[in-house]
Amino acid sequence: MMDYAGIPAPDADDLEMDAIVIGAGFAGLYAVHRLHSMGLSVLGIEKAIGVGGVWYWNRYPGARCDIPSLEYSYSFSEELQQEWSWKERYAAQPEILDYLNHVADRFDLRRHFRFSTTVKAASWDSADARWTVDLEAGGQCRCKYLILAVGGLSTPKAVDFPTLDTFEGPVYHTSHWPQQEVDFAGRRVAVLGTGSSGLQTITTIAKSVGQLYVLQRTPPFSVPAWNRPTDPDEEKAYKSRYREMRDKARSTSSGFAVDETSLLALSSSEDQRRERFEKSWQVGGLPFGGAFADLLVSQEANDLAADFLRAKIASIVEDPDTARRLLPTSYPFGAKRMCVDTGYFEVFNQDNVELVDIARDGVEFTRDAIRVGDRDLPVDAVIMATGFDAITGSILKIRISADGESLSDAWAQGPQTLLGVMTAGFPNLFLVTGPASPSVLSNMVVSIEQHVDWIAETLDHMERGGIAAIAAQPQAQREWMAHVAEIADATLFPRADSWYVGANIPGKPRQFMVYLGGVKAYADKCAEIIREGYPGFDFTPIATVSDVDRSEQRA
Ligand code: FAD
Ligand code: NAP
Repeated sequence: MMDYAGIPAPDADDLEMDAIVIGAGFAGLYAVHRLHSMGLSVLGIEKAIGVGGVWYWNRYPGARCDIPSLEYSYSFSEELQQEWSWKERYAAQPEILDYLNHVADRFDLRRHFRFSTTVKAASWDSADARWTVDLEAGGQCRCKYLILAVGGLSTPKAVDFPTLDTFEGPVYHTSHWPQQEVDFAGRRVAVLGTGSSGLQTITTIAKSVGQLYVLQRTPPFSVPAWNRPTDPDEEKAYKSRYREMRDKARSTSSGFAVDETSLLALSSSEDQRRERFEKSWQVGGLPFGGAFADLLVSQEANDLAADFLRAKIASIVEDPDTARRLLPTSYPFGAKRMCVDTGYFEVFNQDNVELVDIARDGVEFTRDAIRVGDRDLPVDAVIMATGFDAITGSILKIRISADGESLSDAWAQGPQTLLGVMTAGFPNLFLVTGPASPSVLSNMVVSIEQHVDWIAETLDHMERGGIAAIAAQPQAQREWMAHVAEIADATLFPRADSWYVGANIPGKPRQFMVYLGGVKAYADKCAEIIREGYPGFDFTPIATVSDVDRSEQRA
């Protein structure tokens, strides 16, 4: 990597930057750190008043990660990973937010950011090879490289219940939770939505609320987390092998440091299957999905896992009618994001918790109740756990255009990218964990670091080589998208109406938006592209761009 030491860091008010990074979550923080360390002038822009991204916004009761924190954390600094101690196997939101604040302070990243600032538009002009970034509050900044670290789960799905305004009590959204703790003790509360956010909220508030109505449209598959406090000896042992464990995570398809199996459920005996499913249940969490290699490619194998999980639900929930209504049957196990819980099915054995099916009748709101069919459920507060306009929501919320062409037009039939990191027609625009990369079906921190490193190496190549612009070739993009679709079509994922295919947002084009070839295969492909001189990408030399200041050519 070229050493750019000596190039001054930007003044806080200097609006002409080498790079602008939008977002201050895991991705934006690392991108700003990495690019600044290369000597580029970098401005980070974040809508929130502080760092954290997902972990800033999602402060709902019980919010926590579902990948062990020793893995769901940065690997880029050996000192950082050695010095930080996690209190629990799966850290809760406040601890992850503390960690990201620590990272921001430790690497002195805050001074590069403008907080409480929303980007509303960005336009590229090929004549001077610059992005102009428009801020919602007025004002503009310009840059050579625009990096979208805006998050795949950062734009809440619009809450569009026509009668909601009639309800006079407070309505909370898990992904926009107030900064102050909300006390639900003794109150009558409804939680609408039974995805990961809903389950964490439900299991946490069920302990103290007077009455809890769980409004369910589609039952989820969920596996226990078996969360526990960190064992200091285990942590010490893990940290003594941290590099090895990080390498192991990067060598898998999920980005977790687990041993991946090639065992097939369909070629195993019934006893072997039962034993392995049971063992995976006891280990808990997302690795359950990898108990056998064929669970997400064969419907028959999938049914076996689904039967196992349904039997668990039936064995936990005491009331047979409630248990029956909690059984997921309408989609393959894992094809909607499986949940990881702490006592979810058990809460339905509490007298103060009722499962309310809303699939048939939907919900209506009155002044002080939720109407489902002919029943009025009196409530003091409503919690929306209704999810996100995932993967593309935050990207398309920004009006992005290049030489007059808009990104929302280019993606009208669904997002098109090359490797999920660039999109044809939009030079020098980089997406961190964008559509058609492993992103949300991987350990996100692993994928974020890999993407930011790829972008940094690419910018280094451009800065050294007197290159003004990089652009994805349309043909290479078509081939990548066909490859992504081909892999997805060989699995059960597209069969579910999930947010992976945009089905949770009315009118969103249906397209499977994640690369399923795995973290390792994907990273190898990205590395190969750099090694082979960027096949599939076009470069524009600085010399051919009319208005570019030649003094920028630092090579
Ligand atoms: P984000 O953390 O979403 O940050 C994006 C930032 O960009 C936000 O702060 C947002 O305010 C800002 N932004 C967006 N648009 C603009 C704009 N126009 N102008 C200014 N600022 C803007 N993944 C895992 O791998 N494991 C987990 O256990 C896990 N748990 C999760 C739990 C929850 C509740 C949620 C919602 C997601 C979880 N995820 C998990 C996925 C999560 O999205 C990633 O792990 C990761 O946090 C994403 O980081 P990011 O920096 O890419 O995006
Ligand atoms: P989600 O998985 O999309 O779940 C949304 C829930 O709301 C679903 O049950 C959905 O029902 C319901 N819903 C949405 N609109 C509705 C409507 N109009 N009427 C009735 N029901 C409606 O969203 P999420 O729970 O926020 O999770 C999103 C993703 O964030 C997760 O999949 C995961 O990747 C991540 N996450 C992770 C964790 C963690 O454990 N670390 C925690 C939270 C979130 P249908 O299924 O019928 O659409």
